[in-house]
Amino acid sequence: MTVKTRFAPSPTGYLHVGGARTALYSWLYAKSQGGEFVLRIEDTDIERSTQEAVDAILEGMQWMGLDWDEGPYYQTKRFDRYNEMVDKLLAEDKAYKCYASKELLDEIRAEQEANKEMARYDANHPKIVAVNQAAKDGDPCVIRFRNPKEGSVVFEDQIRGRIEIANSQLDDLIIRRTDGSPTYNFCVVVDDWDMGITHVVRGEDHINNTPRQINIYEALGAPVPTFAHCAMILGDDGAKLSKRHGAVSVMQYRDEGYLPNALNNYLVRLGWSHGDQEIFSREEMIEFFSLNAISKSASAFNTDKLLWLNNHYIKTSEPEYVAEHLQWHLDNQSINIENGPVITDVIKLVGERCNTLIELAEQSRYFYEDFSEFEAGAAKKHLRGVAKGPLELALSKVEALNDWTTENLHGVIAQVCEELEIGMGKIGMPLRVAVTGGGQSPSVDAVMQLIGQERVISRIKMALAFIAEREANA
Ligand code: GLU
Repeated sequence: MTVKTRFAPSPTGYLHVGGARTALYSWLYAKSQGGEFVLRIEDTDIERSTQEAVDAILEGMQWMGLDWDEGPYYQTKRFDRYNEMVDKLLAEDKAYKCYASKELLDEIRAEQEANKEMARYDANHPKIVAVNQAAKDGDPCVIRFRNPKEGSVVFEDQIRGRIEIANSQLDDLIIRRTDGSPTYNFCVVVDDWDMGITHVVRGEDHINNTPRQINIYEALGAPVPTFAHCAMILGDDGAKLSKRHGAVSVMQYRDEGYLPNALNNYLVRLGWSHGDQEIFSREEMIEFFSLNAISKSASAFNTDKLLWLNNHYIKTSEPEYVAEHLQWHLDNQSINIENGPVITDVIKLVGERCNTLIELAEQSRYFYEDFSEFEAGAAKKHLRGVAKGPLELALSKVEALNDWTTENLHGVIAQVCEELEIGMGKIGMPLRVAVTGGGQSPSVDAVMQLIGQERVISRIKMALAFIAEREANA
């Protein structure tokens, strides 16, 4: 049997991290079993579903690299099929018409509550029986599923273990509303059946629906899939993860400078483990993933760990991969990399110092853009009179350099130190401020190499002019 899983979001908002983790687990399980992954958009709630949300979900999935083998299917395009199945159940007397009005149901519920009984729909309630007997064909009605009265529904949840619910706890669910539209729990079953879904991985907020859905599968004569219900994600304060905790939309993580591989690695570990391994390549995730190693308990989101992982991925990923995702931030910060070094070389040099792609873009700027001012603090400290001699000597050597290599630039700095009998700091820091504009950068010889000879010369001249002006004003 080919394993087939699905992700079935309702398009009522963006793709949030909880949904993304469910999608990832579902995707990973399919991949780990050599199976297929289906994307289904559950848009039956027409009031709350929007095209914008559909687009945001697709964009989020694509950004995460969670590609689907089938779909996206849209529930709103499948109403005829759902209705066909409702009619089938009606014809087999596994479903029935109920004419009880909302007012009557409210009245019965109030009675039940007053008698301290469980408030529920009861098909045998004398008032409901009376209404249904008196009704004529064509009167407004809903279709209810005839839930079994006896026994219980038992299933083996892959995460939570055996779950058993007595049928006496389940009432006869509405499967078609008065307006003719099929209801959510019914559509899900018909879809999962039609789409050949073997494993349903979803949030534990759906666990109460599962026994009802299992009864519907059985009534339809459909095979019941295996279920895995994932626990919630909490904020670092223990409350349910929400906007209050910062980014919750997957695309916001893109905006904040995370690599999708870092977020995937973070999310896979948020509630799943394989020994004490923290870093997983995509291939390793696929190889090691299993549903029963997902934790039953809720997991708390930890932004520091995500940042740590992001730094790891920026440092260790192929620079081409980082470059592909950095481009959005370069564009966002209006940094044009056409006139300057190859971006992958900048990434190799600067990447390890950065926790996010925002920082990496910021720290790439001076390789591509000239600046008109030095950072005030760094300039005050390092572009002083004493730096004039060393910078002048460095300038003449840099101008004379024929072979613009990091090694030769290292040599230039060493010669300046030797000839002027000064320590490395006396030329290294002024040079750094001169060529980068600020006091922090990777090794200054490598930085100068990438910035290029022409720019380095003009920036040292600018630093010398700054010192001259400062001295004139002193
Ligand atoms: N559409 C449901 C949701 O977004 C998911 C249903 C399911 O996975 O069965 O919560």
